[in-house]
Amino acid sequence: MSDYKINTKCIQSGYTPKNGEPRVIPIVQSTTFKYETSEAMGRLFDLEDTGYFYTRLQNPTNDYVAAKIADLEGGVGAMLTSSGQAASFFSVFNIASAGDHIISSSEIYGGTFNLFNVTMRKLGIDFTFISPDASDEEINAAFKENTKAVFGETISNPSLTVLDIERFANAAHAHGVPLIVDNTFATPINCRPIEFGADIVIHSTTKYMDGHATSVGGVIVDSGNFDWTQNDKFPGLTTPDDSYHGIIYTEKFGKAAYITKACTQLMRDLGSIPSPHNAFLLNLGLETLFLRMPRHCENAMKVATYLENNDKIAWVNYPDLESNRFNALQKKYLPNGSCGVVSFGVKGGMEAAMKFMNSLKLAAVVTHVADCRTCVLHPASATHRQLTPEQLKEAGIGEDLIRFSVGIEDVEDIIADIEQALNA
Ligand SMILES: *Cc1c(COP(=O)(O)O)cnc(C)c1O
Repeated sequence: MSDYKINTKCIQSGYTPKNGEPRVIPIVQSTTFKYETSEAMGRLFDLEDTGYFYTRLQNPTNDYVAAKIADLEGGVGAMLTSSGQAASFFSVFNIASAGDHIISSSEIYGGTFNLFNVTMRKLGIDFTFISPDASDEEINAAFKENTKAVFGETISNPSLTVLDIERFANAAHAHGVPLIVDNTFATPINCRPIEFGADIVIHSTTKYMDGHATSVGGVIVDSGNFDWTQNDKFPGLTTPDDSYHGIIYTEKFGKAAYITKACTQLMRDLGSIPSPHNAFLLNLGLETLFLRMPRHCENAMKVATYLENNDKIAWVNYPDLESNRFNALQKKYLPNGSCGVVSFGVKGGMEAAMKFMNSLKLAAVVTHVADCRTCVLHPASATHRQLTPEQLKEAGIGEDLIRFSVGIEDVEDIIADIEQALNA
């Protein structure tokens, strides 16, 4: 970790050019890397030497950007993935296989819920979903002999609940397993879950980190803090890997065991790498993340306050509002503001919600969120369409819920747009 303040890290971390090298992270658009001898290449394949040989495993552009994000989150290492979905999958699959069990918050992104509840169940991995409001007793009761991790979102998309990271980390650690936190909505500018006990942090970089809606991507950050050898729950990390002539990740890579396995084993076999060009674009977003996040939060707070005082609005959900049930957790974990996303219901339910959304002019109806441009979505009919009414309820998503992602435009224009749509 560098000693710089987070704002400086956004700009400087991850890449330091040497004499005569490009000032900006270069795009190394090459699948392969040349070596003088076959023996030198062989040592790379055996993980005996470190170096680039094939972009599916590692690429310099991707690594510079991953190193910056590791520094922002305070981890020992990170790996970029081609999407947030790939990051979610890898983060769990790296330590769980058929016959294992994971505890997840029920209030998570719809795509993650489908991945866990349908696709990963087909791989033989079992999930228990618990409310982020669960008591310590309820959390403890969810653990089984074969539980391998606990998963949650710092701020859930789209229900905007705030995870009590310390409480969930303590429960996970008491049972000898790591806490994995999806920090997409908060970003490391507003919250660094590792400081509160999270062991693995993931992101859909598609959202605020990219910030300009140019590139789908994800990242996994390893805190290096979890001791994988404390029990026999993680044989993939603590016993020989036959696909590398029997190396043992915890012995050979120490604190970076988890992230090294994710890269050299899962990425090698499953191949969900981002293109170096997308990593370059992601870096441009990261360079201004610390400027954009405060503006997103400031604008969202003004929009939320406007909505709270408008009698056409049935309810407003924004953790930073004093009236919000997660306000105490927001103050603890996200003291500088949570994110730019506000959810609310207009009086008149689903039909009124549709009419309101169709009347917006500045705010665009898109399947996207956390972008510099204001955008809006009706999750029950879009991202969360596959969920049953019961599952929607568990995920905290009402039929009237409008997810309003406040951008960094002039907030007076955003509020004027809401006002004209409410009057329409
Ligand atoms: C969008 C999102 C994902 C999935 O990321 P993609 O980049 O779309 O694959 C995962 N978690 C959260 C919280 C998200 O908002």
